Amino acid sequence: MSGQPVVPMVDAQGIHKFFGELHVLRGIDLRVERGEVCVLLGPSGSGKSTILRCINEMEQISAGRLYVNGELMGLREVTRNGKTELHRLPDAQIARQRSRIGMVFQRFNLFPHMTALENVMEAPRQVKKVSKPDAQKLAREQLAKVGLTDRADHYPSQLSGGQQQRVAIARALAMDPELMLFDEPTSALDPELVGEVLAVMKQLAESGMTMIVVTHEVGFAREVADQVVFMDDGLIVERGTPDQVIGHPVEQRTRDFFAKVL
Ligand code: ADP
Ligand code: MG
Repeated sequence: MSGQPVVPMVDAQGIHKFFGELHVLRGIDLRVERGEVCVLLGPSGSGKSTILRCINEMEQISAGRLYVNGELMGLREVTRNGKTELHRLPDAQIARQRSRIGMVFQRFNLFPHMTALENVMEAPRQVKKVSKPDAQKLAREQLAKVGLTDRADHYPSQLSGGQQQRVAIARALAMDPELMLFDEPTSALDPELVGEVLAVMKQLAESGMTMIVVTHEVGFAREVADQVVFMDDGLIVERGTPDQVIGHPVEQRTRDFFAKVL
């Protein structure tokens, strides 16, 4: 419908996060459009994981507002006597909001006593109460997407790290997320297994999935990212296209970072 404003997939406004006295996010504004791939780069401890954990509500933000697909996350606005207050949403509603966001971690955390297929079936079965045959069908489709049709009946211990991470991606996709978050998905892998996971992520990006990816794989950022965001010390220092931020950084802190990693 023309004339309608386009709602970004992620709209973070003035996000702050404290852990006790520690001020870890110090005013983050981040906008990620529908279908966009945003790569977050920055030194260790700069707050990258914390942003992802706040977006999917594993952590509660200390201040600011976060909208995912137009919906205020974790909070509801209550207006009383002309004054607007923010209240924490009930847990069940937070769980519903979280179920729309897929997350893939450095450590794959598959259930060791379940096959690849059973791992992928688990969330649709438990959270969405999908029937067993439907969950099996869904899980087979997702495993096919990550190129693991022939590994459906293998246990995690029988799979390589790269295959396990691809199962973890299939598991997240089985919940039909509108947004996918990746936190250093290839950092725990042997170098020869990194490529197969990045290839699956690239394919997912090409299918139109909205993704925020924390990674040190600068080549992936250059090739796949629409937006690159460089963070340091709880702040966004610089953002733009890969060519702007990686190729021609303006800020000294960004230049210093790439001088070390490239
Ligand atoms: P990055 O992912 O960029 O390496 P993090 O978001 O993990 O950074 O961490 C940012 C800062 O927040 C670090 O100083 C880290 O020690 C601190 N931090 C992260 N999680 C917690 C926590 N649960 N409790 C206390 N401090 C934390
Ligand atoms: Mg991290």
